[in-house]
Amino acid sequence: RRYFYDVLDIEAERLHHLIDDMLVLSQIENAKPDSTEQRCDVAQEIRETVARLYPIAEKENISLKVELKDGIWVACSSSRLQQMLGNLIENAIKYNHSGGSVTVSMQQENQQVLLHIADTGCGIPEEYRESIFQPFFRVDKSRSRQMGGVGLGLALVREIAVLHGGSVCVESGSKDGTTFAVKLPLNGEKTE
Ligand code: ATP
Ligand code: MG
Repeated sequence: RRYFYDVLDIEAERLHHLIDDMLVLSQIENAKPDSTEQRCDVAQEIRETVARLYPIAEKENISLKVELKDGIWVACSSSRLQQMLGNLIENAIKYNHSGGSVTVSMQQENQQVLLHIADTGCGIPEEYRESIFQPFFRVDKSRSRQMGGVGLGLALVREIAVLHGGSVCVESGSKDGTTFAVKLPLNGEKTE
């Protein structure tokens, strides 16, 4: 009985996660601005997201590193920015190896902030590097299922980036790890 309660608990948690993601996705697809839309300090949001995911990383024996620069602002609500960062960092932990690391770094480039989320994980074969941003797409279906998740994280990341005038792509992804790059305009000015 105990075992089945645990299974029910895990599955309920998974459904909860799925519903949350779908709600945010549909909200964004209807281009509804977050009513709490405001400016936020990117470094501060990274710190908070990393602190939230630290226990998961520790459990998986992954070290989290940050290279931050304070005082870089974007026009985005704190919750949306953390959702975007959270999905990328969570993936970087989830698709990593025990003893591996995740590095989040940022730099200012003209009127944009450029973020890099680099991991030492399993990498993403070249032919899938565009498809992974589609809702429900997962590279290794059986393995991904075992780890939970439904394949909405990166779709959400892209929607949030685009909604705020930015972009996201896989910059590199060999078998030694993957690096995602996110660009966001400073103070919400549109990129060309
Ligand atoms: P969810 O995010 O909804 O919990 P998910 O992690 O499977 O589920 P996505 O975040 O959209 O979904 O990622 C899609 C797929 O891209 C993953 O299933 C995985 O195969 C691949 N992927 C994403 N990030 C990485 C990464 N850092 N390294 C290797 N593969 C990755
Ligand atoms: Mg994910």
